[in-house]
Amino acid sequence: MQTIIAVMHDGIDETQIRRAGDILKEGGLVAFPTETVYGLGGNALDAQASAKIYAAKGRPSDNPLIVHIADWDAIYKIASEIPPEAKKLADAFWPGPLTMILKKSDAVPMATTGGLDTVAIRMPSNEVARALIRAGGGYVAAPSANTSGRPSPTCAAHVAQDLGGKIEMIIDGGNANIGLESTIVDLTEGKPTILRPGYINQEMLEQVLDEVEMDRGLISPDSNVHPKAPGMKYRHYAPKADLIIVEGEAARVREKINELVTENLAAGKKAGVIGTDESLLYYKEGDVRSIGSRKEEITIAQHLYSILRDFDESDISVIYSESFETPKIGQAIMNRLIKAAGHQIIKV
Ligand code: AMP
Ligand code: MG
Repeated sequence: MQTIIAVMHDGIDETQIRRAGDILKEGGLVAFPTETVYGLGGNALDAQASAKIYAAKGRPSDNPLIVHIADWDAIYKIASEIPPEAKKLADAFWPGPLTMILKKSDAVPMATTGGLDTVAIRMPSNEVARALIRAGGGYVAAPSANTSGRPSPTCAAHVAQDLGGKIEMIIDGGNANIGLESTIVDLTEGKPTILRPGYINQEMLEQVLDEVEMDRGLISPDSNVHPKAPGMKYRHYAPKADLIIVEGEAARVREKINELVTENLAAGKKAGVIGTDESLLYYKEGDVRSIGSRKEEITIAQHLYSILRDFDESDISVIYSESFETPKIGQAIMNRLIKAAGHQIIKV
């Protein structure tokens, strides 16, 4: 299949959006930019389109898709119950990087929800994304537009690497502003619960809803407690090289990483280092890269996936990364980084 690339760096190209909307209405797939990461879109109300999404990504069929809408009223068709918390969260954070889990209506096929009777719903703030959703009929199922197991795409080139030739169109809207997937909040049972941390953190949610819990499966070291979002149990975002996080006081972390890199080089193995703008000059050997600046934590989120992809292009066998427990999005960054590292952490 020839994949059409539609470039929209300066806003919406109406002709191309109409073309993309027609592809979705006919059951085809269009990858598109959002403020979190790029999404692989198909008509959420069409079971066959959802099946195509799973096939293109190689995604396990029990891992449900998020349904993207462009207007609040669209929610009534796909959710069977809308608790007052949903409206409050929407008023505060939509359009934006927040996904809510609600009871689904019969309009949403089980193929879209991975067999669950609940549905994940988000209204993205990216204008190209919302124009596409409207042009495509109002309901776009879209997981991240990567091959399952690879880092999520934060630019159109990443999407082309994984899905070029497999889907009808890629809309290139430049780099994603946030770079990490949306925060997921479950509103279907008990207290509102965060199933996946993201840019919108617990504190921000608690300013709108009094109490918000964190899914025990995310924080529990006990591997018998499974995360409630089916996708969180998979080892996502895995780079080809072994990734190891070094955690502790900054100077000791740098010292330990330098020591480990030297050991690897002596053993004839090439090593990579993930540092920051502030720490780069302390690393003497190895393939050293900056993920961003600790003074601007969003830059760390923005570059996490691209740095992992870049390392996949080189022939290193191990990557050592600093830890990024930054104040606002640190929890979301570390959630992704720890998964990418398969929980390999050295504490110093
Ligand atoms: P992605 O779109 O690739 O970021 O993945 C979507 C995430 O949302 C996965 O972790 C899913 O498990 C999660 N998700 C989607 N629908 C539901 C649902 N109904 N209940 C719980 N988690 C969901
Ligand atoms: Mg994903």
